[in-house]
Amino acid sequence: MSPVLKSFLIIALRVAAIALLIGLPAGWIGGEVVGFAFGATVLMLAFAYYAWKLAQLHHWLEDPQAATLPDADGMWGDVLGKLYRLIKQERISQKSLSDALARFQQAASALPDGALMLDNQHNIVWLNPTAESHWGISLANDRGQTVTYFIRYPEFIDYLNARHYGEPLALKIQRKDIGGALKDISLAVQLVPFGEDQMLLLSRDVSERERLETMRRDFVANVSHELRTPITVMAGFLETITTTGSSHPELLEKSLGHMTAQAVRMQRLVEDLLTLSRLEDASQRPVAAPVNVPELLRSLLLDAEQLSSGRHRITNDLADGWLLGNRDELASAFGNLISNAVRYTPEGSEIHVQWGFEEGVPVLRVRDNGEGIAAEHIPRLTERFYRVDRGRSRASGGTGLGLAIVKHVLIRHGARMEIQSSQDPQTHGTQFSLLFPAEAACAPQPRPQAVAA
Ligand code: ADP
Repeated sequence: MSPVLKSFLIIALRVAAIALLIGLPAGWIGGEVVGFAFGATVLMLAFAYYAWKLAQLHHWLEDPQAATLPDADGMWGDVLGKLYRLIKQERISQKSLSDALARFQQAASALPDGALMLDNQHNIVWLNPTAESHWGISLANDRGQTVTYFIRYPEFIDYLNARHYGEPLALKIQRKDIGGALKDISLAVQLVPFGEDQMLLLSRDVSERERLETMRRDFVANVSHELRTPITVMAGFLETITTTGSSHPELLEKSLGHMTAQAVRMQRLVEDLLTLSRLEDASQRPVAAPVNVPELLRSLLLDAEQLSSGRHRITNDLADGWLLGNRDELASAFGNLISNAVRYTPEGSEIHVQWGFEEGVPVLRVRDNGEGIAAEHIPRLTERFYRVDRGRSRASGGTGLGLAIVKHVLIRHGARMEIQSSQDPQTHGTQFSLLFPAEAACAPQPRPQAVAA
């Protein structure tokens, strides 16, 4: 016998037994009609009891949180107890499922890459915040929409439909930055199929990596270009000397002079490259000590006088302040600015070097009244190998690295540079200002005492 039939028979027999127990004595005392009425009343009461319990159960199932579980004995109590345990188990497994889902979403949200889940119709199921920013899609508003409605690039649609997802797709797209301006970004996009025809669309922003790669390529090309000219010149002279031998001593002397100049140029380039790579190495912090800036500037001004050989009028106004920094690096930065002023201004120009404190801020200004620099060049002057006039820079022994070196020295000292320039016939000239943090200023140090022999 099936358990259902068994339960039914037990209940039916129990109700019938009660109806008989009450109906029979009532019939014996009051006659058949009374006995039948009592028996029928018992049946109706049993029916009403089960209907009432059913209504309570229905109400409880509608809203198990608000309603209390109906209490009952016997078989009803058994049924309700089992039902309650089942629902409790169901709730526990539902909670652990939603906890696991929340943990998965938290982990996916923390991913540095974009992750977008698609169903078998290419509709958006879920995406993390990185994917929202890559594709301009909002999880709250756009869930359920077709992905190609948002990502309309033909390369992406071909990639999606081709169903060969082994290789990632390189995609160049435009995105609005925080200020609302459009900027180009490069994404590496990969589709990963999973489950039943579902897919994960992964996206990684590779713009910075591409920018660094371009910079590296440009740098290698620039260095090769800078070295090729002197090497070609030297090879040419060596060939001439080899073919003419020592039969033309005056030619030999001239060639040696030219070759020495080219060798010096290459040496200067290599030295500047080494300086720059040392300065760019963030792991090597500058060894800072109090630097007597006016004394350092006076020695650099002597070098400038020599470089100018009387072709410029060089003046100065040097306050008595010291600076906490690296003497060699500061000498390199200050020296570059002063020698540039000599090399890039015509004969008769005036150069003024000023060192002092402006509202507590240590400032060095190197000003000249040369021809000035056009405004479009100014933001690019500190780029490696950037020159306004390539021929003039080379002719004056420039490597194109001077202001890049200055920039890196300033970064290492927490300082910044301002460049003002004018090509106006009345006010032409250029001023480079180096502004150091106020904390870098330090009191003059006593000279070390000579030790008596
Ligand atoms: P370089 O080794 O060529 O001098 P820099 O990085 O020191 O390289 O300078 C970059 C360019 O900035 C120079 O080629 C020059 O055209 C320009 N420049 C720098 N200083 C001055 C200045 N005082 N007046 C005019 N042009 C300048």
